[in-house]
This record gives sequence, C-alpha cells and structure tokens, in this order.
Amino acid sequence: MKTITCRAMGGECDEPITGTTPEELMANGMKHLEKAHPKMAADVKKMPKDDPMMKKWSEDFMKTWAGTPDM
Ligand SMILES: [Zn+2]
Repeated sequence: MKTITCRAMGGECDEPITGTTPEELMANGMKHLEKAHPKMAADVKKMPKDDPMMKKWSEDFMKTWAGTPDM
C-alpha cells in the first residue's frame, strides 16, 4: 500500500491518501476531494479526461506513484 498526500496530488492539505493501486489511490483521492475540497472535486469532474491538464496531472501522478515506497 502506498500513501501520497493530498498536496502531492495537487490538493490543498496534507491529508494522507492511501491505495494499493494507482486507480485505488486516485479513487480515494477523489473521495477525499469531495469531502474536504468540494469545489476542487467539482472542477475536476467538469474536466474532460483528455484535457491536456488532466493528462499532465496523470503523468505527474504516475511519477509520484512510482517514486513512493510501497509500505
Ligand atoms: Zn485535501
């Protein structure tokens, strides 16, 4: 299981988000956004998946994921 903070995922706080796969961590990150940062969650949901910003975010996220030790 890996832990990445909300901030490292582009969020606004240092809440740790956990997941055993990138998909799970992303889903948990989204749940956290909906609870803690509803405005950000709404903005992310509005964005199309092939938006250049989302692509860049996914690339950065996968780099962060690869660089995070598996605990
Ligand atoms: Zn947060």
